[in-house]
Amino acid sequence: MLDVQGLQKTYYGSGQAVEAIRDLTFTVDAGELVCVVGPSGAGKTTLLRCVAGLLPPTAGEVVLEDTVISEPPAGMAVVFQEYGRSLFPWMTVAQNVERPLKEKRLPKARRRELVGEALEAVGLADVPTSYPWQLSGGMQQRVAIARAIAYEPHILLMDEPFAAVDAQTRADLEDLVRALWQRLGVTVLFVTHDIDESVYLGQRVLVLSGRPTEILANVDVDLPADRDQLTTRSAPEFTRLRGEIYELVQRAKRGERPSPADPSH
Ligand code: ADP
Repeated sequence: MLDVQGLQKTYYGSGQAVEAIRDLTFTVDAGELVCVVGPSGAGKTTLLRCVAGLLPPTAGEVVLEDTVISEPPAGMAVVFQEYGRSLFPWMTVAQNVERPLKEKRLPKARRRELVGEALEAVGLADVPTSYPWQLSGGMQQRVAIARAIAYEPHILLMDEPFAAVDAQTRADLEDLVRALWQRLGVTVLFVTHDIDESVYLGQRVLVLSGRPTEILANVDVDLPADRDQLTTRSAPEFTRLRGEIYELVQRAKRGERPSPADPSH
């Protein structure tokens, strides 16, 4: 489904060149939910922007469904951290969700149907005519998620989408993402700096090294598919995985590089 091959990204600014990503190679199968964690500044956002076709790689390529990405691809939706900036304040909730569907040139009746279903799925069926600024942060992020799923993407990219909401809302939104992923069968690439979140959400966690970035490890999350905040987070396997990834991120922070023998998926 998604094939990242030898991705390298160097920023050339007015001053020194910054090599954000040195060499990333990994694949994501159709229907997988893969999390990416790494220390701050490791290039997570850079990776996601390259995958989203918003930033050209310096070397290597990103292939989505057999097509090399050179611009934002049709089958992809992205949810960013800054929900406040990603919604249009002069449009109602329903109009925000509908907008990309208009760009897709779907007929009005189908647009209505998709908007209704998406708002229902994120628990916002009762506020279609509200404006984003009338809603809490968590609700605004739900609107952004509704907009993404209404678009019926093949792959959903999420860049630290819950970093700016409170802990309770964050837990609810994590459960919402798992539920939607299970129901819709969409492929999800979820970037976070939160280790617990990566284990709770993912089937697999890619741990990035520090800059210049490579993949330090690929950790399979062998937890039951039905997860809940209490049982899953108190399971011994959850604690073990969290410890393993915590240790890997500490090693990344200390500048450890992957050994050539490390398996990358
Ligand atoms: P993360 O999301 O993991 O925190 P980023 O992808 O935002 O990491 O950044 C990776 C590195 O690239 C950082 O050192 C950052 O300072 C640098 N960087 C990010 N964007 C730019 C840019 N537009 N110009 C120059 N350097 C940048």
